[in-house]
Amino acid sequence: MRKRDRIQWKLLIPTCVAFLTATILINLMVLRDREIAIGNVLEELRLSVVNLVETELDKHLTQAITLNETHKNMLKGGYLNPQDASNRERYFSSMIQSSPDVVMTYFGLENGEFYGARRVLDQTIEVVKNNEVTKGNSEYYSIKEDGRADSLMQVFENYDPRKRPWYQAAIEKKGRTFSGIYSHFIFKEPTITASLPIYEENVLVGVFGVDFLMTWLGETLRNLPIGEHGQIFIVDDKKQLIASTTEEELFQIVDNQSVNMLVENSKNPLTIEAYQTINLDSQSLDEIETQKLYIDSFQYENQTYYISVDHFHEEGIEWNIYTLLKEDDFMKNSRRAILFASSIILVVSILFVISMFFITKKITEPIVLLKESAKKLSKGVYSRVPVSKGNHELNQLAESFNEMGETISNLLNHLEEEVRVRTLELEEKNKILEHLTYIDALSQIANRRKFNEFFAELMDNRDSEDKMVGLIMMDIDYFKKYNDLYGHLEGDVCIERLGEILKQEVSSPSDLVSRYGGEEFISVIRHQSYEEVIRTAEQIKLAVEELNMLHEGSNHGYVTLSFGVLFVEDRTKYKAEELLKIVDASLYEAKEQGRNCIVSRQI
Ligand code: GH3
Ligand code: MG
Ligand code: MG
Repeated sequence: MRKRDRIQWKLLIPTCVAFLTATILINLMVLRDREIAIGNVLEELRLSVVNLVETELDKHLTQAITLNETHKNMLKGGYLNPQDASNRERYFSSMIQSSPDVVMTYFGLENGEFYGARRVLDQTIEVVKNNEVTKGNSEYYSIKEDGRADSLMQVFENYDPRKRPWYQAAIEKKGRTFSGIYSHFIFKEPTITASLPIYEENVLVGVFGVDFLMTWLGETLRNLPIGEHGQIFIVDDKKQLIASTTEEELFQIVDNQSVNMLVENSKNPLTIEAYQTINLDSQSLDEIETQKLYIDSFQYENQTYYISVDHFHEEGIEWNIYTLLKEDDFMKNSRRAILFASSIILVVSILFVISMFFITKKITEPIVLLKESAKKLSKGVYSRVPVSKGNHELNQLAESFNEMGETISNLLNHLEEEVRVRTLELEEKNKILEHLTYIDALSQIANRRKFNEFFAELMDNRDSEDKMVGLIMMDIDYFKKYNDLYGHLEGDVCIERLGEILKQEVSSPSDLVSRYGGEEFISVIRHQSYEEVIRTAEQIKLAVEELNMLHEGSNHGYVTLSFGVLFVEDRTKYKAEELLKIVDASLYEAKEQGRNCIVSRQI
């Protein structure tokens, strides 16, 4: 039997396949959940980054805008008078003090004058003046407690506000503008300038400016939960890196000038990789507007990173916010859990398969034993099936099988005895039957059928060395009269007694005497000469006479027989009928000669 055809495998294979399929499906579901999980983390983080940047930037931009608007209103209302040194110095120094992110606030006039206040490294406040008196130089003074200029601290020669980008951008736009981010020359921090042009009856008076630090942006971003290896960085429309959670410098010195770092020159390879993965340069602004969100993933040093880009667009500021997360930072624990769960599942699967193997073996073993025993039983060999403990179905089956085996075995043994007895009986009955078939019921000697077969067989045997045969045909004389005189039953008795005589006289096993017809008999004598055959006939004749059975209807007074005798030298020359005809003729002749005599012939 092939292995997979065995009942054990039929049980084992589908069970194990079902178990392993279910296990694999569960694993796949867990893995899919894991992907959904990192997707969710990324989405949440991205949203909080964008929200934070928007709200913080709004807050700071509003502060700068509000400050410029306040300047404008103060100027228009006559509370700020740039030509009054005491007024303007106190005004600017008090305004900057109340705005902590503002590093400098100032007013550049159409005639080239420049006034304002600034914050220096130790957070002290200085005021600036630049007019005819300072000969076009910007002079910075420390302030007294009342906010007015005290002693000269620093001079910037030949400073013309009208040539500065913040001034020119404002008059070009004829409204408020924001500069790009640049490195503050004192604080060396990213800074942005908001400027607002002032017109009086459409004539330009000057431009207010506010420089405020963007240090908060990097700090705020660094506080976001981006994991150990995550990054958030912001790239402006000039591909400049304007904020990053990495510690890298955002500015570099080129020709003694601090210029913004281009993102593609970043010292951080991951930043460059992330930027190149979703490079929005090739996209038009419209496209960026419609598909605000970009998410992708890439492999870096065999680690998976997810990157999303959001576009921030406000007050002329065009920023792309890149959020980069390392899968491992978020998935390490869950990966460890998955690894642990997978190992457990593997161990459980192996245990399951092994235990199923033994369970199915335990179940099928008795069945296999039953099968083997049934096979033996079908060949007539009965062996008892061992029955294990317990009363379960298989044990009941084994018990039933054993009972059945015993019964069949008993039946088989009994059957042999039965067959033996029956065969004996049959042989007995066959003998009887043969007797009945070949023995005449009345005379108890062979019947005509026996004679026919015996004689035919003899005549057919042409090979025999002994070819002689003697035939004696006999007929009761005046038997009709005998019946008439003494009745049919007495006639039967007469035939019976003659039968006994004939049996005695012809007793050689190679010879035969039989009742040939009603009151006729015939004997086949073998291995005897002509004389011997005649002698046998004479002996019979004598024996019948000695019986002396009264027959008053016969001229002899007792029952007699007439004899026709034929001796054949070579029987193979004749047919059975020819010989019978000849012997019958001899008998007829004996009747003719007066009965109770022998007429013989030899051929
Ligand atoms: P024959 O001397 O010429 O032989 O005269 P027969 O009377 O013996 O010859 P037949 O052929 O005329 O008569 C034979 C008789 O034998 C007739 C029949 O009733 C009688 N018979 C034949 N078989 C039986 C039998 O089995 N029992 C009895 N009781 N009589 C028989
Ligand atoms: Mg007759
Ligand atoms: Mg007769």
